[in-house]
Amino acid sequence: MAVEKIPVAVLGATGSVGQRFVQLLESHPWFELTALTGSERRAGKMYRETCEWILPERLPEKAESLPILATSPEATLAPVVFSALPSAVARELEPKFAEAGAAVFSNAGAFRMEPDVPILLPEINHPHLRLIETQRRRRRWKGFIVTNSNCTSTGVSIVLSALQSEFGVKKAFLVSLQALSGAGYPGVPSLDIQDNVIPFISNEEEKLESEPLKITGEMQGDAVEPAPFTISAHCNRVAVRDGHLVCMSVELMRPADAGQAAEALKAFQAPAEVRALPSCPDPVILVRDESNRPQPQLDRMEGNGMTTVVGRIRPDPHLHLKMVVLSHNTIRGAAGGSILNAELAAAQGLISKTGA
Ligand code: NAP
Repeated sequence: MAVEKIPVAVLGATGSVGQRFVQLLESHPWFELTALTGSERRAGKMYRETCEWILPERLPEKAESLPILATSPEATLAPVVFSALPSAVARELEPKFAEAGAAVFSNAGAFRMEPDVPILLPEINHPHLRLIETQRRRRRWKGFIVTNSNCTSTGVSIVLSALQSEFGVKKAFLVSLQALSGAGYPGVPSLDIQDNVIPFISNEEEKLESEPLKITGEMQGDAVEPAPFTISAHCNRVAVRDGHLVCMSVELMRPADAGQAAEALKAFQAPAEVRALPSCPDPVILVRDESNRPQPQLDRMEGNGMTTVVGRIRPDPHLHLKMVVLSHNTIRGAAGGSILNAELAAAQGLISKTGA
């Protein structure tokens, strides 16, 4: 018997993350893409006519002729909304959807650090979804907002969470090499990045130093108690298309050697109810033993872009261990992560065809 799918809208569907949503939702078993929005200049145009499609996968047929609607709940009429809006726009518009009863799964930074908004990565912190009860009560929303992490925080948080639960983490030192698609489309001018590395990404270090603490924190009553470790981050933009690579050194509470850390990461599993979701990666973390992996070009599509790939685990003369972490920024770090969040909410009965 065919299952009736839940209608979903993508806000900001023409950008780097919006296009990923459109591609990943093409044949989703639970969700049906019914509405797309963009900025005013595109309103009324057909998606294929106005969108500069930049993905190697073909533009899904069903999306081609969808019109670009205004970014309002009255125009989209979908009970589930995936937001790929710039942060300032998200701050203004996402609450309107939540107020109208939609379940909003946002990629924007606007609400991430608000105490009643979860930064959800179901493999490591699915109990944080409970924050939406407080959120709805406090804000008097019929719907809710669930965010996913900044794209560089994603792989880092997954690995730190696995290490935290096995050995405890005291501090982490990170240097990121971030892909161009992380800057949106059209993003960084080619003359700025060709033959170059840009050692600054606005607000990125602040996010990377704070978000993983909330993400890996524990629910205490109706709030998240942030994890007690500290992070120092350097963020760099590099001329890679997709996939954020992070060189990470960690000091643990209980020292472990490289082999023990590799075993802990390999053994890491999502909880059973999360493993059952259509987009949950298997494995959550892949550890590669070669001395020159992971590499964005070769490893970013592991687990359909949802697996975090770790390699080069070795002793660190200053802290305990160093390693390299790779995560696909527009899939695990954005659209794929948001879809996984919506799957968890649907599995828990928090969304339906008629709304949140
Ligand atoms: P992007 O390529 O610049 O896309 C932004 C989208 O928002 C476009 O569709 C744009 O439409 C639309 N938009 C802009 N202003 C709007 C307005 N006033 N009303 C309605 N729509 C508007 O950006 P992105 O990289 O996809 O990022 C989207 C969000 O996800 C951002 O908050 C970003 O921080 C976050 N994020 C990005 C990544 C990543 O890897 N790229 C990862 C995690 C999170 P037009 O094309 O018509 O201008």
